[in-house]
Amino acid sequence: MTGEENPFYEHYDRILEICQKHDVTLSLGDACRPGCIEDASDISQVEELVTLGELTRRAWEKNVQIIIEGPGHMPLDQIAANMKIQQTICKGAPFYVLGPLVTDIAPGYDHITAAIGGAVAAAAGAAFLCYVTPAEHLRLPDEADVKEGIIAARIAAHAADIAKGIRGAKDWDHKMSDARKRLDWETMFQLAIDPEKARRYRASSKPEKEDTCSMCGNFCAMKNMNRILEGEIVDIFDE
Ligand code: SF4
Repeated sequence: MTGEENPFYEHYDRILEICQKHDVTLSLGDACRPGCIEDASDISQVEELVTLGELTRRAWEKNVQIIIEGPGHMPLDQIAANMKIQQTICKGAPFYVLGPLVTDIAPGYDHITAAIGGAVAAAAGAAFLCYVTPAEHLRLPDEADVKEGIIAARIAAHAADIAKGIRGAKDWDHKMSDARKRLDWETMFQLAIDPEKARRYRASSKPEKEDTCSMCGNFCAMKNMNRILEGEIVDIFDE
């Protein structure tokens, strides 16, 4: 409206000098990131990424660290390619993504659309996932929304760590599988990403047989296989 350039862009070198002096890391936002899946990977997004690559180079020349903002809405099949293009253009500078949300039709569930995209993005090289809450596009999130959003983002990040073979990532899953096999409910709760919800769900539907759950009851495959492996003759209809 004023005909002036963005002052942060116009005075970027001066800002870099200040950041270098005070050891500040810059977050380079992308104003042209897609706001719906139809905008994803359009010319303005890619052109801006080229500019972000240039700003990255200039920051590193002045010994200033940067992190780069990535797309917010993107079909699943474009995410991995976008991560690779960013890594090439921005020379591997850390990339943070807002989801990306893989579909636009799920207001109230955008922590899930974001976690799907976030898992793919992180597995393909995104360095940081921003959480999205179920309230996205609807209202300011409340405390419960924030919790749901953070847990969904943590699940996405953990799924990506497993896919990338990050050392130790699977250990958590192995411990959970072992506890499930032993029907050790207390350990399962302690290992759960949301122990409070896991406890609440189990408590809300007590099984007939204490060591099983109400999903299969006495037909519990874990319980019956454990008994068979211990040499018992199992007839679940007799019990
Ligand atoms: S009852 Fe079914 S769902 Fe529940 S622990 Fe046993 S096998 Fe798993």
